[in-house]
Formats: sequence, C-alpha cells, structure tokens
Amino acid sequence: MRKLIIANWKMHYGPVKAGGWVRAFRRERLPKDLDVSIAVPDVSLAAARASLGRATIPALAAQDAFWEAEGAFTGETSPTMLNEFGVVMCLVGHSERRKYLGETDEMVAKKAVALQRAGISPVICVGETDADKKRGATMKVIRVQVSSAISNLKPDGHAQPLFAYEPVWAIGSGKPCRPDDARDVHTAMREIFAKKWGPKWTHEIRILYGGSVDARNIAEYVSTTGIDGALVGGASLDPRGFGLLCRAALPA
Ligand code: PEP
Repeated sequence: MRKLIIANWKMHYGPVKAGGWVRAFRRERLPKDLDVSIAVPDVSLAAARASLGRATIPALAAQDAFWEAEGAFTGETSPTMLNEFGVVMCLVGHSERRKYLGETDEMVAKKAVALQRAGISPVICVGETDADKKRGATMKVIRVQVSSAISNLKPDGHAQPLFAYEPVWAIGSGKPCRPDDARDVHTAMREIFAKKWGPKWTHEIRILYGGSVDARNIAEYVSTTGIDGALVGGASLDPRGFGLLCRAALPA
C-alpha cells in the first residue's frame, strides 16, 4: 500500500498565505511513491485550488464537514460544497474538535457517512487522552471510537475511509508515541475492521499515525509495518520543511 502524509494546517493560513504555501510547496521534489495531501481551512480552499491548478499533488483535503447536504445550519459546510473545490479527503473527529467543540462519537459517525456519500474519503481521527492512557484505557477508548465511527460506513468504493491514530497527549507536545506502541493500537483497530467488514479488510484500510511527527522521526513511523503514513500538524506549516519531511519519509 502507498504511504500517505497529510498536512493539517489547523486554523492557520487564510487565502493569501495558503496560495503562497501551495506555490512554494509545488517547487519541492517529492518521492514518487508517496501520496501527499493538505487539509486547509475552508476559507482557503479556493485559493489553494487556484494555486494547485491542474496538479493533483498535494491532494486537497478539508478539516471538517457537516452531516447534511444543505439547510438551516448556520456556519456549517457540507460535503457536497467541499466537492466543488475538488476536495478528496476530509478529517473528522480531530481531538481539537472533540475537545473545543464538543464533537461526539455519534457526530463523527454521521459526518463520516455524509462524506462517503458525497464521494469524499473521511479521515477519521481517534486517540486517547493522557488521563485515558494513565488509567490503562487506551485500547478501550480506541475500540469505542472506531466501532462507533464505522457503524454505518462501507469499506469499499472510491471514498474509502481512512483513520488517523492520534494520541491526544502526543499532539503538539513534542512527545510522540513510540512507533511500536502506535503499531499495537493500529493492530487492534484492524481487528475491529475485520470483525465488522470481514478479514479481507484487515489490511486494506489505511491507518496513519499523528502526534509530534517531524522530519527527524517520520521515517521510523513510515517504515513500521501497519503504519500507513502520518497526519502532520506543526511540522507542515512551513512548505519547505514539509517538503523535507516528505523526502525523509521515503528516502531515495
Ligand atoms: C494534528 O493536529 O493532527 C497533529 C498531529 O499535530 P502535531 O503534528 O503538531 O502534533
């Protein structure tokens, strides 16, 4: 399976800076076997799209979407609207949205289904908090989050779901999860896929790792069996630095 790295800009870069980022990143040399995507704020999708032109790399992603296609939902953006920008993937259930905006597993599940229906791959983010980890509840938390998220999802089709395992304590902390520990969680997630969809799907769904990944440690994750790439926050903000990270992921 090809490895994938997604840049999560979070709430950085309005249209002007987003356009500049994309133009600068397009000058970076990238490994040909690597898939790369950028999750940009909604207000910057048009600028990012314009700067990408016909280029399909990096693929355009969004950071969130609502579960209805249209209606009286002030402030929300629907998957069908994201489609108009050529968005191919969309994060859902990022821990910052769970923490600051009260997103529940039920909301995450509805968003994932709506995205898939609109032909956009949901990138479902799951992860335990520091408190969960300290009380030994990591696997329990992950099982609940994953099972809920996939309850009404299909594993196949052109909008195949993806996952990002992002331990909350590792995000932006400079304290990444050890690759072996991440791999164990990914293995537990794959068991849930197999149970729900059949053994064929055990290794067919991409699971990325996220949390304090940078150019120095990316290769360790990408080279670990069962880790299909990374979701990168802070280290994606500088286009040249992110180019370096992509090259470090799959050294020539
Ligand atoms: C993230 O926000 O998804 C993330 C992984 O952030 P960081 O790389 O900064 O830890």
